[in-house]
Amino acid sequence: MKKLLTALFVFSMATVNIFAVDMSAEINSATEKILPQVVEWRRHLHQYPELGNREFKTAEFIEKRLRGLGLEVRTKVAKTGVVGILKGDLPGATIGLRADMDGLPVTERVNIPFASKEKTEYNGQQVGVMHACGHDSHVAMLLGTADVLSKMKSKLRGTVVFIFQPAEEGPPAGEEGGAALMVKEGVMDNPKIDAIFGIHINAQTEIGKIRYKSGSFMAAADWFTIKVKGKQTHGSTPWTGVDPIAVSSQIIGGLQMIVSRQSELTKAPVVITIGKINGGVRENIIPEEMTMAGTIRTLDDAMQKDVHERIKMTAQKIAESMGATAEVSIETKTLVTYNTPELVKQTLPTLEKAIGKDNVYETEWTTGAEDFSYYRLKAPAFFFNVGGMPAGKNVKDAAPHHTPDFFIDDSRLDVGIKAFCNIVFDYQPTAKAARNSSAKIAAEVLSGQIPVENYYAAQFFEQPFQPFKIESVLKF
Ligand SMILES: [Zn+2]
Ligand SMILES: [Zn+2]
Repeated sequence: MKKLLTALFVFSMATVNIFAVDMSAEINSATEKILPQVVEWRRHLHQYPELGNREFKTAEFIEKRLRGLGLEVRTKVAKTGVVGILKGDLPGATIGLRADMDGLPVTERVNIPFASKEKTEYNGQQVGVMHACGHDSHVAMLLGTADVLSKMKSKLRGTVVFIFQPAEEGPPAGEEGGAALMVKEGVMDNPKIDAIFGIHINAQTEIGKIRYKSGSFMAAADWFTIKVKGKQTHGSTPWTGVDPIAVSSQIIGGLQMIVSRQSELTKAPVVITIGKINGGVRENIIPEEMTMAGTIRTLDDAMQKDVHERIKMTAQKIAESMGATAEVSIETKTLVTYNTPELVKQTLPTLEKAIGKDNVYETEWTTGAEDFSYYRLKAPAFFFNVGGMPAGKNVKDAAPHHTPDFFIDDSRLDVGIKAFCNIVFDYQPTAKAARNSSAKIAAEVLSGQIPVENYYAAQFFEQPFQPFKIESVLKF
């Protein structure tokens, strides 16, 4: 009996060891082999970019390659999205890997043989189209990852869902799209994804490096409009009317008081920017109405909600005090891109192993935004940056994303592939802690189920992770 138990013990240890085999050497050599092909794919996509919800050729390109690898493929997800499903031969968790597919209405100015010459109509205007955010490299890296992993299928535990998402930069006016629509259409539910990972190439991060941040990484972006209504009159007799321009100028000052005097800035930063102001026709006429539009950036779900309430109150009360009215509308474009701390902690050794300890570093949060943020409403999530800035270049000389001079060095796209593949093999499905993430709490705060003042208290409770209906947040 004792012998049998010993044998069983030894066998079970051996089983554990088989599972614990480090796959990084095999991944690395397969990645090096596919890299020239990946660079070719990226350059092709770069030359033929398409705008959000119009990624028809891009989708075809992806579909063809995923089918070639023998994956189960779903098309027309969230308009032009493509999802590939790879089932490993061994049982295990389901991991989502995401790449965005869309280009931008920017005319390329970079002198490279594969520069984009594409043109299209955008909001009634003829514009150039360019992969000015590097999403071409994301598609190429995820296709490369699918290639490497599909060849290792016999050793793969669980399922990998390759998510090619349209319209990250926002759908055309009047259309739904992007990550929110992918989630709404069930991309996280069938099969049910246990954890999701995403990468973004960064033109101002040195090539070969990965930068990440645990917790809040990128900001929630809201767009807002304030319509101030006064009473029109002659410019020489302001007391006979209500001047909406004077009211607006006070509101603009009041909005900055929300940032400087009312927000807990030691917790997280807040940005409120008015980017547009319209009204008036002539020097000596006080107009009836003024419209202002701007953006809000927050890095904390509760602060986002709090700032919204304060903007409404500030605008309305200032207007009221001067006999005017203010109508405020706020539209949430993205949530806070929040990296589940337990998942980050668990994944870091894998990233360090994949590309070298010295090449992985923690960074500051940014006030830029990403719609990857919607996926974390369904599962723990981790989004990080991969460097695309040529070695030795000064950050100040590297053109920012979304500009005609945006450039990335594509010689190290292997970094993203190695990171993704190693993550898939190392992911620990038993990490219950990651499931007790703040995702549920975030969702409840955003949908009004938890009052803002209870937010920080709520974070202390261990709550099992439960998916919820995305609609409640989208109506926000
Ligand atoms: Zn972008
Ligand atoms: Zn982007």
